[in-house]
Amino acid sequence: MASRRILIVGGVAGGASCAARLRRMDEFAEIFIFERGSDVSFANCGLPYYVGGAIQDRQQLLVATPERFRDIFHIEIRTRHEVLSIDRAKKTIEVQNLQTGSVNKESYDVLLLAPGAAPIRPPLSGIDLPGIFSIRTLEDTDHVQTWINHCKGVKAVVVGAGYIGLEMAENFSRRGLEVTLLERLDQVMPLMDPEMVEPVYQELSRQGVDLHLRSEVTGFESGINNMINVLTSNGQNYVADVVIFALGVKPDVRLAQQCGLEIGSLGGIRVDDQMRTSDPSIFAVGDAVEVQDVVTGLPALIPLAGPANRQARIAADAICGRDAHFRGSQGTAVVGVFDLTLARSGATEKVLQHANIKYEKIYTHSFHHASYYPGAERISLKILFAPDNGRILGAQAVGRSGVDKRIDVLAMAIQKGATVFDLEEAELCYAPQYGSAKDPINIAGFVAGNILRGDVAPANWSLWKVLAAENKTPFTVDVRPRLVAARSAIPGTINIPLGELRSRLNELPRDKEIWVHCGVGQTSYFAARILKQHGFKVRNISGGFASYKMEEM
Ligand code: FAD
Repeated sequence: MASRRILIVGGVAGGASCAARLRRMDEFAEIFIFERGSDVSFANCGLPYYVGGAIQDRQQLLVATPERFRDIFHIEIRTRHEVLSIDRAKKTIEVQNLQTGSVNKESYDVLLLAPGAAPIRPPLSGIDLPGIFSIRTLEDTDHVQTWINHCKGVKAVVVGAGYIGLEMAENFSRRGLEVTLLERLDQVMPLMDPEMVEPVYQELSRQGVDLHLRSEVTGFESGINNMINVLTSNGQNYVADVVIFALGVKPDVRLAQQCGLEIGSLGGIRVDDQMRTSDPSIFAVGDAVEVQDVVTGLPALIPLAGPANRQARIAADAICGRDAHFRGSQGTAVVGVFDLTLARSGATEKVLQHANIKYEKIYTHSFHHASYYPGAERISLKILFAPDNGRILGAQAVGRSGVDKRIDVLAMAIQKGATVFDLEEAELCYAPQYGSAKDPINIAGFVAGNILRGDVAPANWSLWKVLAAENKTPFTVDVRPRLVAARSAIPGTINIPLGELRSRLNELPRDKEIWVHCGVGQTSYFAARILKQHGFKVRNISGGFASYKMEEM
């Protein structure tokens, strides 16, 4: 049987992974990768840390070289080669050698598109001034390093406070630059619910990063001494030696559009669950494709390395005739912001509201390992779940330790359609320095399970604040010890410490709902159980005072 010719466009996460898997599945196929840039298979996720100096050796970012691909996998790599067009009828592509300018045609039996996504760069005045960069490739970071060294830069402005913007802000700061971070929206990390990113504001301020929310960049001007004036919509201007644009990315669908492949409703290449495009001979993976959201079932663009790598493996298997299927993406992501970690998986409240999916939510603030063992840190964890059957719809967490481990557990639970009752039963690692006999995951399951079993009615501060603003503040009892409550009393609440509750029931109304709260939601749960069994209508405010603080922004 003649060997197949498989051509791949793009040689980083999706393209390189797919090529390597293809070789393992088909020893005889001819496999070529065409990559516009100078490097293949480099670690884009490490780029901010190379700028910051945590990764010092550039070579460390090259996961595999063209020589390794040739020697080990018998895969031919053409770097500095850009694929210009696809002729689907003739099954050929047109490729330009960017060093010589020559253009060749290459035929394929199967074509895989892994062109990634391009950083968003709006057409602002002055955007092409020297010193303004986006970070996508190793060469981009080389340019940033050269520029900072050349101008002996001390001031950086980062535009956009998504995860790449936050990582760049941290890494510039670690490098000793003064950093201003500008964000158009009223929160950082828009892929998380606003209250869950509240600890980031203190952390950025503690580390000296000057964050400005609701600050949209409208243009750039040359300033004195080759500095850049960054202009914003609220009239405030900032001066910078170097500017990083981190406004997110959009799928690179130029080739797909040129050859008439179907594009999805969100602008990514449309693929089936085997990563096949509307042309059965062409597959596509990674940031360029539109996938199905695991939770909502709706189309989604999820530009992350994990999905790109998994899709690449599935595309390779499908190309080789295996019955492999992509389960969809759920946006599992983690970001470090100095000493904080934020992570998420599944849907946020915003996404569920948009998809018209009913949900209940809980907050917990458990210690990441046994509280008696030195170094215990609280993890603020939010879980969104279906009110009818308890299916977990989304999870977000923030803290200083143990955040990624919990979200990883929840990510698997979400993918498998598990419920909050499964979290109650999860058997997880425990020794004092690693976890607790009741892990934060179990605790979250208990809290949500208690609600679904009707043991306690839930409430949350976001609703409390809406009611308070309408002068309808619920009758709210703070059951923390007197001294603690006095130090951080919430206006409109009364304090009855848990130990006094049974003897002071006559102070409580029987004709209206009582909302109870404490430090993190556990003592108030005990209070809610007492009151319920004494015939009161009661709700427990999830997450207690710790959640109240997070809702303050
Ligand atoms: P890419 O890896 O971008 O590769 C696409 C390649 O195709 C590019 O090299 C491009 O030059 C080439 N190409 C495009 N068009 C052509 C053409 N016509 N001809 C030839 N070649 C072409 N994800 C995470 O999950 N965690 C992280 O911590 C994380 N950090 C990141 C940090 C940064 C700074 C960046 C930029 C991304 C980060 N990501 C992270 C995202 C992750 O890198 C991407 O999701 C992943 O690389 C997507 O893989 P891909 O193969 O689709 O695209």
